[in-house]
Amino acid sequence: MIRVYNTATSSKQRLTPRRGKKISLFVCGPTVYDYAHIGHARTYVFFDSFVKYLRSKDYNVFYLQNITDIDDKIIKKATEQKKSPFIVAENFEREYLKDMSLLRVDSVTKYAGATANIEEIISQIERLIKKKYAYFIENDGIYYDISKFKRYGKLSKRSAVQAEDGVSRIDESVKKRNKGDFCLWKFSTKNPKKINPFEPKWRSPWGEGRPGWHIEDTAISEKYFGAQYDIHGGGKDLMFPHHEAEIAQMEAISNKKPFVKYWMHTGFLTVNGEKMSKSLGNFITIRDFFKKHSPRILRFMVLKSHYRSPINYNKDTVEQSIQELKKIDEFLCKINNLRKTDDKNKDITKLIKSTKSKIEKSLNDDFNTPLVVASLFKFITKINTSLSKDNVASGDVDEIMDFLKEIDKVLHFIIASEEELLIKEVSINKELSRMLKERELFREEKKWDDADKIKKQIEKLGYLVEDTKSGPKLKKK
Ligand code: AMP
Repeated sequence: MIRVYNTATSSKQRLTPRRGKKISLFVCGPTVYDYAHIGHARTYVFFDSFVKYLRSKDYNVFYLQNITDIDDKIIKKATEQKKSPFIVAENFEREYLKDMSLLRVDSVTKYAGATANIEEIISQIERLIKKKYAYFIENDGIYYDISKFKRYGKLSKRSAVQAEDGVSRIDESVKKRNKGDFCLWKFSTKNPKKINPFEPKWRSPWGEGRPGWHIEDTAISEKYFGAQYDIHGGGKDLMFPHHEAEIAQMEAISNKKPFVKYWMHTGFLTVNGEKMSKSLGNFITIRDFFKKHSPRILRFMVLKSHYRSPINYNKDTVEQSIQELKKIDEFLCKINNLRKTDDKNKDITKLIKSTKSKIEKSLNDDFNTPLVVASLFKFITKINTSLSKDNVASGDVDEIMDFLKEIDKVLHFIIASEEELLIKEVSINKELSRMLKERELFREEKKWDDADKIKKQIEKLGYLVEDTKSGPKLKKK
């Protein structure tokens, strides 16, 4: 049984999708006006890992993510650079997808841009006008009247914007009926002096203009999932007003509730306690992070914290993650250097089984990855103790590796690629392991002189060879 924390009910709830094993999941995507930062990575790595876990449990997850490719910030950048806003958005969407691919975030079923769904957006606004939830402000736009939707504020349990909420300038207008009303459609200016050639516009039944921010998500989710679906995710800055607005739009249009069964929100990646964000200028882009560190370190940094807790980013947190991953690398290096034989230690099989079950229990309980990391390190410590007592049979290596590879399909930080390995002695280790294998072959063929020659070569590299039951072992001189 999988349980997730549902913001809508402020409690952990059993995950029971609406249609058996089928799950429809929508996660708010980025506004593509600049490179993504590691705060974005926090949210998207979590959802990627979560989806991979659900799929490993045979859930058929349709993971939909929108791309906000029309927005004030994009228009501002386009105007500054004298470029088409479509080119700006296309460029940063491409760069975002490259970053995600390096982070091994590859579970999204469909990315859907707002500008590719203008028809769907117009159709939703038409229905809101018909049902009298939307009203016109002349020479300005079409707005949603939140006083008409009695449940407004139920998700976040508030009705006013707070400091770290994600907001859009498009919602500002002095002529609104209520302070919290938000823009569904912004009319293009007809004043020739005010026309910005870098501001795009689309035809609509009410005149040329462009869509508001909140309506793009419900138009896209309705297109792929219908009026109701299972899980909606995003950072907690989107809870209010963005997600409240989505509920108000879709439930008003369809008359069906709940619009979404489970709302999942990630905590912030922070710098000195403040949300990392472009506007505060305290951000580190994903690609700048990758100039110094591998994607694996970022994934680990994200997943070693619980997804709802903040992650305080600083040099020490990165260094600590590196030191912890080094322990995994050293362990795997040791394990892989054991000579493989058929003998097996039953206690290792038992340990794998119990660790597996603990990990599953933690993931089932609101995706508690810090507990998974703790179980992994306990496992490593126990096997290391057995190794030092010569109690690990080399026949256990495959079983240990299979177990770790299996969990790593969800986590992607255990098994490092050659470039991602963090222990310096990797190449020397590889060479040593090759030499050990060669020496073993000579010993099997009773070519003692040749075997001794290799032993001496190994000693020259600073290691002593000890022959044990489970094969030769290296000790630093
Ligand atoms: P944006 O491009 O700002 O709309 O953000 C896209 C997604 O990244 C949203 O789900 C945000 O909540 C999330 N996000 C942005 N900054 C952070 C941060 N510092 N920590 C965690 N998630 C973030």
